Amino acid sequence: MIPPMLLREVEYARPSSVEEAIGLLAGHEGARALAGGQTIVNVMKARAASPDVLVDLGRLEELRSITVSGGTLQLGAMATYTQIMASSEVDVSRPILADVAAQIADVQVRNRGTIGGNICSNDPTNHLPPLLVALGASMTIRGADGERTVPAEEFFLGVYMTAVGEGELLLSVSVPAAAKAADGFASVTIGRDGTCIANAAANVSDPGVTLVLGCVAAVPVLLKPDGTDDESVRAAVADANLEPPSDVHASADYRHQLATVCAVRAVRQAAERGR
Ligand SMILES: Cc1cc2nc3c(=O)[nH]c(=O)nc-3n(C[C@H](O)[C@H](O)[C@H](O)COP(=O)(O)OP(=O)(O)OC[C@H]3O[C@@H](n4cnc5c(N)ncnc54)[C@H](O)[C@@H]3O)c2cc1C
Repeated sequence: MIPPMLLREVEYARPSSVEEAIGLLAGHEGARALAGGQTIVNVMKARAASPDVLVDLGRLEELRSITVSGGTLQLGAMATYTQIMASSEVDVSRPILADVAAQIADVQVRNRGTIGGNICSNDPTNHLPPLLVALGASMTIRGADGERTVPAEEFFLGVYMTAVGEGELLLSVSVPAAAKAADGFASVTIGRDGTCIANAAANVSDPGVTLVLGCVAAVPVLLKPDGTDDESVRAAVADANLEPPSDVHASADYRHQLATVCAVRAVRQAAERGR
C-alpha cells in the first residue's frame, strides 16, 4: 500500500514580479500566497485548507524592503521577524516592532515567518494584529483592479479573514515613525516561546490612550481608556463586555482576567516609555 502523502498534491509557482504573482492568484480560484510557510504549510498538513496552487512570494525582493521616508516606516509584506529585529530603520522609527517580533515563537519561525503572513493569517492569538492596530498602521493591498490602503483597524475581519480579497496581495505595512513613541505590549504565553493565551498592545499619545486586546475575539478589540492609571484601564476592559473563547489553555473567565492583566501591563509600559 502507498503511504498517505504529507501534503495533498498542489501546484507550485514562483513568480518573479508582483504583477505575475497577482496574475497567478487572480487566475486560479484555489490559489494562495506562500510567504514563510509557517502557518499555511501546517494548515495544509492538517488538511484544514487545501489550496490548488501555491504562489511562492520568495523571489519578490521588493516585498522584503524596510524603509523610512516622510515620517513613515514602510515594511514590505515579506520582511521576516528576524529582519525586523535587526533593522536599523525599525530601531530608529518604531522600536516596539522589533521588541515584539523577538517574542514570536523560536528562531526557526522568526527566520522564516513574515509580517505579511502573520497578519494575513489573522490567527487571533498572533502577536502582530493587536500591535499594528495600536500603532495606527495601514496596509497596502494590490489586486488586478489596482491598489488601495486600509487602516489596521479595518483590516482584520474574522478568524483567518482580512481585507485582502481573493486574487489580491498584501504589499506592505506602513507605521507612523516615532522613535520615542509611548508604545507597550504584554502577553501571557503557553510556555516561554509559545502561543499567546492573552495579549495587549498600547499607545499613549496626545489624543489619549489606545489599547488593543488580542486573543479575546476573532479580531483585535480596540479600546480607549480614560487614562493610563490601572483603574481606568481595568474599567475600559470591563466595559467592553468581552466574551473570550474558552479552550484547553484557559476558560473564558480566566482569559478575561489575563486580558485585564495584559492591558494594565501594556499601558503601564507605554506610559513609562512616554516619560
Ligand atoms: C511553532 C510555531 C509557533 C508559532 N508561534 C507564534 C506566536 O507565538 N505568535 C505569532 O504571532 N505567530 C506564531 N506563529 C505563526 C508564525 O508567526 C507565522 O510565521 C505567521 O503566522 C505566518 O507567517 P508566514 O510568513 O509563515 O506566512 P504563510 O504561512 O506563508 O502564510 C500565512 C497566510 O497568509 C497568506 N499570505 C502570506 N503573505 C501574504 C501576502 N503578502 N499577501 C496575501 N496573502 C498572504 C497566505 O496565503 C496564508 O494564507 C507560530 C508558528 C509556528 C510554526
